This record gives sequence, C-alpha cells and structure tokens, in this order.
Amino acid sequence: MKIVTVVGARPQFIKAAAGSRQIRKENTEILVHTGQHFDENMSEIFFKEMGIPAPDYNLGISGGTHAQMTAKMLTGIEEILIKENPDALLVYGDTNSTLAGGLAAVKLHIPVFHVEAGNRLGTLDNPEEVNRITTDHLATLDFCATEDALEKLKKEGLGDRSYCVGNIMYDSFLHFADLSWDRSNIVDFNGNRVNIPDEYYYMTCHRQENTYGDRPLTEILTAMNSLDAPTVYPVHPRNRERAVRICEKEHFNNIILTQPVGYSDSVHLTKNAKKIVTDSGGLQCEAFYAGVQCVFVLDYVVWPETMVDNRNQLAKADHNDILNKLSATQTIDPDYKPFGDGHAAEKICKIIKEWEKR
Ligand code: UDP
Repeated sequence: MKIVTVVGARPQFIKAAAGSRQIRKENTEILVHTGQHFDENMSEIFFKEMGIPAPDYNLGISGGTHAQMTAKMLTGIEEILIKENPDALLVYGDTNSTLAGGLAAVKLHIPVFHVEAGNRLGTLDNPEEVNRITTDHLATLDFCATEDALEKLKKEGLGDRSYCVGNIMYDSFLHFADLSWDRSNIVDFNGNRVNIPDEYYYMTCHRQENTYGDRPLTEILTAMNSLDAPTVYPVHPRNRERAVRICEKEHFNNIILTQPVGYSDSVHLTKNAKKIVTDSGGLQCEAFYAGVQCVFVLDYVVWPETMVDNRNQLAKADHNDILNKLSATQTIDPDYKPFGDGHAAEKICKIIKEWEKR
C-alpha cells in the first residue's frame, strides 16, 4: 500500500518513530510534516535521534489561530494527496495536523487511519477534543491505546471500525528506556551544558490552561521550589519567556530550567526522577510505564487508566494541592498493564493488512 502519514507536533514524531519503522516494512510511506513544531529541539532532534525518515514534504505551517493554521494545512495536504494519490492516510493523536490530514483525505475519498483514537475529556473547551472526535468519526480504521478508549468509540457507534492495539508511545518508550543515557545533551538557554543532580523531580508544563498568564505557572513552580530536591524543567518555547521571568522574580533557585530535551533525555529523566509533575498527556503515561509517581496539573483526567493507587493524581494549579498530592505514596500492581505490550505498531500494520484484503 501507499500510505501518506501526516505529523506536525512533538508527540506525533515520537509515535511516528515506532509507526514508520513498522509501516515501511511492507508499505510505501510518504511522510508529510506540517511544520506545526519547527524549532531544532522540538522537531529536528526527534528525526535525528529516533531515526524517523526525513519528511518527503514540509509545509512550514505554524502559528496563527486554530482556523488559520488548519485551513493552510488542509490546502497543503490536499495538494499532496492529489499528487501522490495514496491508498490511505494515517494520522496520530489530536493536533490540528491530525484534523487537517483526516479532513483533506476523507473529502477525496481516501481512507483515514487514526492512531490514538477514542480518548475523551468530555469538554469541547479543549481544542484537541474537537480534533479527536472529528477525526475518529471520519476515519475508516480507529486504533485505540486502551480498552476504555475503545468502549467510548463503541458508545459513539464506531465499534465496527475500532481496535484496541495498546499505546504506540509505549513502543517508543520501551525502545529508548533500554539505551544508555548521555546527559551531556541537556543545555540551558545559553547552550551551556546542564548538570543533572542524582536526585531531582522532573516537570513539564506548557498547556494553555497553565500558561495563559503568570498565576498558574507561579503556583506550580512555588510548589516545586519548596521540595527536598531540585526540579528539572525543560521549557516549551511557548512559555519560555514567562518561566524565566517568574523564576527570576520569585528567586526560585531550586528549579533548573533547560531547553526542551530530546526523547532519550526525556525518557531517562523520567525513569530516574523522584516524582513527576506535568500537564502533558504523553509524559504522565511515560511516568506510569516507568513506575514513577506523577501529579497531573489540569482540571480534567486525560488518561483515566493511570489514575490508580496514587500512581497519577489530578491537582489544581495550586501549590498546596500539588504538594499535598506529591506527599502521597503510590502502590504498583505489576500485573496491571492497561497500555498493551509495547507492540502497538505491529498490531496496527496487521489490522491494516487484513483490512486491505477485504
Ligand atoms: N518530551 C521530550 N522533551 C521535552 C519534554 C517532553 O521529548 O523537553 C516528550 C515526553 O517524554 C513525551 C512527549 O514529549 O513523550 C510529550 O509531548 P508534549 O508534552 O509536547 O505533548 P502532549 O503529551 O501534551 O500531547
């Protein structure tokens, strides 16, 4: 088969690393990068480090409103689909690149495969929820990371096209967790190497809900600064200025700000952390895989499977609430594996092959 895969943002590169490797064993893949994430350490580094094939097309589309970005992507992807005339289009997750890819393809009667389908927060206030629901419903095949996501799609009448394959991010995580760790890749905003202490907390925070103003991020950093070990915080370009300014103003000397790190660094920072505080959907799952306790700072649950036995707890952007949740102790049931076995990419390709024969 000839499959066009559309990616655009950091978590999609991480998923495509596992996906493309498997897809290319038996298919021709054309990789389209929309350009949504473009900085060296938000995009390029993942292609290099994770062995993702170079994109065949880069649309260079980033910034602007959701409508502006999606509209430009739709036009660009449509042109590529008309030129390449693929048998199918594959998209990951829930970004504007996911929505634009799915929408452009379905209007050209090209089957759409959606990986990481069926996740629901229950609010259309979350822009990714709109992308998720729309893409799930226009897809020909929906691949879910968990049984819970599959159940949600069944309730929406999509059971006949939906499969639970496990979380494809887990494939990538397992691959990189086994490799050795070269900490020298982590740098500050001046490009100087950062020393990572033996004991530290790992934090990421970049969602609109926590970075629209100073208050939520200040609350989170206040909690982290008061802990018994430093916090390593690689800052997303979206809120770099805000994070630096708050840390300087509040004299948060127990926070180590760094540039965004590569995937191997993120996996190893996760594995070796005392605990993790994040608003990232992907990182909370990785904390779970690594058995490291996590606090998820948002108003709603993203991965309900992780919210067991204090392994991942929801906290408000309030320093007392975060510290309270961090003080809990987790218990781990080694038989509880809701994200599959780390072979999601193989299962996806097998189902696609069977579908092709129908
Ligand atoms: N990540 C990374 N470098 C960083 C911060 C995060 O490689 O500096 C990884 C992290 O391990 C996880 C993914 O990026 O796999 C999460 O991406 P992001 O937070 O951008 O998206 P979300 O999970 O919120 O969709």
